[in-house]
Order: sequence, then C-alpha cells, then structure tokens
Amino acid sequence: MNEMTSVRPAVPLSKITQPLDVLIVGAGISGLAAARYLKVERPDDSFAIVDEKLTFGGTWVTHTYPGIRSDSDLHTFGFSFKPWVGPPIATAAEILAYLDETIDEYGLADHIHYGWRGQTASWDSERKLWTLKVQNVETGEMEEISARFLWMCQGYYRHSEGYTPQWPGMETFKGEVIHPQTWPEDFDGKGKHLVVIGSGATAATLVPNVVDQVEHVTMLQRSPTYFRSEKNEIPIAKRLRELQVEEDWVHEIVRREMLLGSHDFTNRCFNEPETVRDELIGIARRYLGEEFDVEKHFTPSYLPWRQRIARIPDGDLYKALATGRASVVTDEIETFVEDGIKLKSGEFLKADVVATATGFNLCQMGDIRFDIDGEALDFHDTLGYRSMMFTGVPNLAWVMGYWRSSWTLRAELVAQFVVRLLDHMQEHQKSTVVPRLRESEKDMQIVDWPDEEDFNPGYLLRGKNVLPKRGTTNEWRLNQDYWTEKDDFAAIDFGDEVFAYD
Ligand SMILES: Cc1cc2nc3c(=O)[nH]c(=O)nc-3n(C[C@H](O)[C@H](O)[C@H](O)COP(=O)(O)OP(=O)(O)OC[C@H]3O[C@@H](n4cnc5c(N)ncnc54)[C@H](O)[C@@H]3O)c2cc1C
Repeated sequence: MNEMTSVRPAVPLSKITQPLDVLIVGAGISGLAAARYLKVERPDDSFAIVDEKLTFGGTWVTHTYPGIRSDSDLHTFGFSFKPWVGPPIATAAEILAYLDETIDEYGLADHIHYGWRGQTASWDSERKLWTLKVQNVETGEMEEISARFLWMCQGYYRHSEGYTPQWPGMETFKGEVIHPQTWPEDFDGKGKHLVVIGSGATAATLVPNVVDQVEHVTMLQRSPTYFRSEKNEIPIAKRLRELQVEEDWVHEIVRREMLLGSHDFTNRCFNEPETVRDELIGIARRYLGEEFDVEKHFTPSYLPWRQRIARIPDGDLYKALATGRASVVTDEIETFVEDGIKLKSGEFLKADVVATATGFNLCQMGDIRFDIDGEALDFHDTLGYRSMMFTGVPNLAWVMGYWRSSWTLRAELVAQFVVRLLDHMQEHQKSTVVPRLRESEKDMQIVDWPDEEDFNPGYLLRGKNVLPKRGTTNEWRLNQDYWTEKDDFAAIDFGDEVFAYD
C-alpha cells in the first residue's frame, strides 16, 4: 500500500445509505474520473466506489517492475480538469501522486471503500436495482450494496496475475521465472543473466531500467516492434512556462497540441505507412549505428499502428543496447533447459532469471458474475453500444479507453455521457435505460469485438470470448478515434430509439 494522504477509511460499507444512485467498481484512473464527474456535475447523487485493492490507482499500483512508467503523455493521460505539470512520460509514483491530489481536491476520499472485491452483481427488474455482493479481502466478510446505476471502471485485465505462455521444458529450468506484473519487491539481480521475453512497452521499459541491476539482460523477441523515441519534454510546454503562462493554460494548450499531434501521427500511419515505418526505423538506426542489425531486430513485418507503438523516452532502450550489457535476440524458443533457453536457430541463451513480459489476461467485468433477474449474463452474448453500454443490460456503463490515444480521453467521454444520460432520465422521470438495436439495424452483421485488420494485440485476440460483440457502424464498435468520438458523443440524442427507457 502506498503512503498517499487520501487513503483513509470511508464510512463503513454497512453504514452507507442504500440504495445509492451510482455504484462505481474500481478506483483506478477511470473510477476516479467517474467520481469526479458525479461530484461536480451531479452533486446531489449518492455514490460510492469499491476497489479490492487497499489503495487507489489500479494499474499504477499493480505494476512495480523497474522503470514502470506511462507510455503516453500525461497531458492527455491525465485529466482535462487537472493540469499536469511534470515531464510528459511519468513514473507510476508521479501518476499516483497526481491521483492523490485529485482525490483531495474533489473530496472523493469519503466515497471510496478499499479492500472490497465485487463477487456477484444482480439486476432486479421489479426493484430496478443492481445489488453487488462484495467480499472484504482481509476478513472475508460479505456485504451487499444496492444502486440504481452501476458504473464498471474495473479495467480490462486480471490484476492478480499476468499472462505467461507455457513453453516446453519450463519445469526443468533451475532459475526464477517472473512475470513483470508480479515483480518481487526483493529482486536481486547481482551477477545474474536476465532474459526478458517480449518486445512491447513492458519489455522496452524493463530492459534499460534493470540493466544496472544485473550482469546482462537480453530482450528475447519473436518478432520486432515499432518504438517512438522522443525527448521526454514538450517544447511548447517548456516555452509557455518560460513565458510564465499559468499551468491551467499550459495544460490546455499542450493537451490540444498532443491530441492533434497524435491524430496526425495516426493518420500518417494509415495514409503513408511506409514513410512512417522508415522514419521510426531510421531513428533506431541512428542510435544503434551501422553495425547493428536493425533490419532483423527493429523492422516489424506489420505496418505502424496495427499494434500499440511503445515509447522509449530519450531512446533509453537503444542506449542500453549500445552499452553492450543489454542485447536483443530475435528468435523463437525451442525449449527451456536447466540453465537457460534453447532457441530454434540453435543458439543458446544463458539465464538465471527469465522475465515474461508476455502480456495480460483479459477478464470480463473484473471476474464479477452477473445476472439479470436470476438469469446468468455473459457479456459476450451482448452487443456493445459505443463499447460502453450493452444490449439487454439495464443501467450499466463500462469504461474501455483508447489504446491508440490515451485511455483517459475515453474514460472522460464516457463520464460526460453517463452524466448527461442520468440528467436526461431524471428530467423525464425514467428509472431504467437499456440500449437496443434500432429496427433499421436488425440485420446488421454482428462479429467478435477485436478487429484483426485494424488493431490486434495478443491479449485482445486471446480474450475475445470475454468481450462483448460489435457491429459494423461506429455506434456499435470502438473506433479508437478520439477526434470523431468527441463530436459524436456530444451529439448523442438521448431521445433516440436506441435507448429504451422505463
Ligand atoms: C503497465 C501499463 C502501462 C500502461 N500505460 C498506459 C499509458 O501510458 N497510457 C494509456 O493510455 N494507457 C496505459 N495503460 C493502459 C491502462 O491500463 C489504462 O490506461 C488505465 O490505467 C486503466 O485505468 P482503469 O482505471 O480503467 O483500470 P485499472 O487501472 O485496471 O484499475 C481498475 C481497478 O478496478 C479494481 N477492480 C477490478 N476488478 C474488481 C472487482 N471485481 N472488485 C473490486 N475492484 C475491482 C482493480 O483493483 C483496480 O484498482 C497501461 C497499462 C499497463 C498495464
């Protein structure tokens, strides 16, 4: 548990007045955004947040591996309503301090109930209420919380363990296998050979940040990834500060600059992918020199943006490789052996420790079992309305953020939507809302959620059976485009046939 000032016990769960207007699951960045919007826009609503952790921050508490940091800039990953004053790529500790201040500034601490894990969620059509059964993670005690509206901010992956594939011979390996998601506090790499399996953001962060703690670190990748390497500062922010512009303004201007910049970059990835590819690879070449086999290790087979592009601030991964104490191997694992890994090429990698930076396990709604009037609900059988509400599921919103832009941009769009929806229901004296396909959409093709042609990281493809289904129009899928969604969301007509009220 961190030592943030705003982690203090809220009113005991057994003492809160029920039913609540809104119950939020998850005190990560999305749950805190949700709470802030309720507090400011709907001050008369009663609401609570439950989180199984003993503190706030979700992702930024779970992940403690060396170097853990954001890979998008904090002007857009941070909130629109709270200026970010540090360098754009931030450490977990800096992000947690920012969230701590947010909790304090908006008086959210009294609403958050830590250490309660949601087990089941049941909708009762007669009472028009959700009831969440929660278990205290320390005492095992059970409580029930009822609420008119359920706001799922539980993230997308299982926090308790990461995804580790099974490779042949793993049981014979005499060293230690660590998943970065559960990095040991007392890790001692002195004199050890560490092999990091993977080439995404986690591996790219770990390698330069662990290089000084071990004898040698090797990044073992099956195939190369694109990286963006930029200085960890934003020139326009620096200049505005030199001009003594107030931080509110700096934040807003830099935020717009970053949004436009990332929109332009994404467009370029689709309109001139070869040029962008050459630029990204060219940067690797400049850092690593002519002798380095950039073709083999840093030239992906796919075009930019089909998977998230990881950032390496100030080229730190490339700099670590240039020291000679870190290396990259592009190959496939044949088998683990006692003292390392045999590769398909015949090469052998000595390893005392293997870190499997191989991704996450997606889970459905925080592994909470849902039912509607006693009938089990599998979200995979539903269709997502803008990937935030589900056909046949009353009074429930879900936060799935962006991958191509900062996650939080979408968490806030969802928050603004929920607030407006609740306003609309109050004004029209409606107590339930369920999204449904319009008559004209009844024949729309319904498919699995991930679009393999568009964005295809392993965890989404592995986890597609826990995700809701999608349709073919922007309203029935997540189009990953903040630029269009910000206008589309603002224009949502709550009187549309797509919302069935009661
Ligand atoms: C290492 C890492 C780095 C990342 N960096 C970035 C980045 O730079 N930019 C970006 O845009 N995205 C990034 N992401 C994606 C990231 O997950 C999100 O951006 C964001 O932090 C998610 O916030 P969240 O609040 O939605 O979910 P989470 O951070 O996952 O928080 C969910 C919370 O819900 C709680 N919870 C879950 N299930 C239950 C339950 N059943 N009962 C009670 N509580 C429950 C969890 O304990 C947790 O506290 C990163 C992800 C990882 C893993």
